[in-house]
Amino acid sequence: MDSGEYIWRTVRDSKVRSAHADREGKLFSWTNPPPGGHPAEDYNCRCWAETAEKKPSAECIQLSVDLRNSEAQEVTESNHLNDEIDRVTVLDAEIIAAKEIVIEEAWKIGLDISMSSLGDLAKKNILVKVIAGAVELKPAYDEIQSLNSERIQAIKEEHFYLSRYRKQREISRAIRAKMEKKGCVS
Ligand SMILES: [Zn+2]
Repeated sequence: MDSGEYIWRTVRDSKVRSAHADREGKLFSWTNPPPGGHPAEDYNCRCWAETAEKKPSAECIQLSVDLRNSEAQEVTESNHLNDEIDRVTVLDAEIIAAKEIVIEEAWKIGLDISMSSLGDLAKKNILVKVIAGAVELKPAYDEIQSLNSERIQAIKEEHFYLSRYRKQREISRAIRAKMEKKGCVS
């Protein structure tokens, strides 16, 4: 990062004019040139400006450690979130498969059920009672019920990790803003 300062460097031989030899290793500001100008500006001057590295303060070091930790936590939360999203996707497919089994089993006992009428099991109470009561359909019906409650749980977890991820992202953002305000090199 440009601190606006540089270190005056000379070639350190006998030809360096004494005024410049005196400046060797000293700090100068780009906005405030010494008499004769910045390095290499004066006639035949072979000096150069070395970028002055600004040493990070203890506070900046702490902030960058905090930021690293926060960003690592963001990744952790985001991984949890993605796991739950994947779990819901898998459950959705499993629920459809279980419903297909119910439709198939129902067909065998003379019940014509479409996927759409199964789509809203909870609201179709009569249909649900028939399906739940039929011995032939019971295992597949129970499977749907269990998958549905698993899915509800997965959605809850998904929301939980989404909010944790968002909070963590806010924390990282706040640390970055603080570092910028303090002029920390990131
Ligand atoms: Zn010089």
